Amino acid sequence: MPLPLGHTAIGLAITDIYPKGSLNDNPWKTFVFIVALSNLPDIDVIMGLMLYGNGDIFHRGPTHSLLFGLIMALIATRIGNWWSKIPKVSFLWCFLVIFSHVLADAVLTTVPVSLWWPLELHFSVGYSGWVDVINFIIFGAFRDVGIIVTVATVIVLNRIIRHKPLPFAFSRLSKDR
Ligand SMILES: [Zn+2]
Repeated sequence: MPLPLGHTAIGLAITDIYPKGSLNDNPWKTFVFIVALSNLPDIDVIMGLMLYGNGDIFHRGPTHSLLFGLIMALIATRIGNWWSKIPKVSFLWCFLVIFSHVLADAVLTTVPVSLWWPLELHFSVGYSGWVDVINFIIFGAFRDVGIIVTVATVIVLNRIIRHKPLPFAFSRLSKDR
């Protein structure tokens, strides 16, 4: 199943393929923003851990839906416009990065997401305490190797097809501004 590393890799691929570079010219800020948005739906794990000590209790609920992606993309875009420390980003880019998480969870795992919430609602069953979640993130990361290899291939192919230099996406984004 995709872990933070896998979701971040997918967010990087979307950013690389996205036609218009509209991100901040600081590559690290951009990277942090991609990490935050591509993993935002899993905030339900943190909420479950903080409120009930169980990361599974709300997992794959409302934050793993189309509606959440739309609302959070709107908020992220607004925050980017108000606060100069956050990259200025387009609504579509934000939505694609956030929603890629939901789609990856839906396609790459057997546990359903709440895609059409509030019309449908699913939660992952089971129990994951703080130690389970931290262990899973650290020691389960190797499971995302397949995603990372696929994403790297997509980025390289995209760059070859578009006759772009192969180095990382950020330099292109900052130049496009
Ligand atoms: Zn998730």
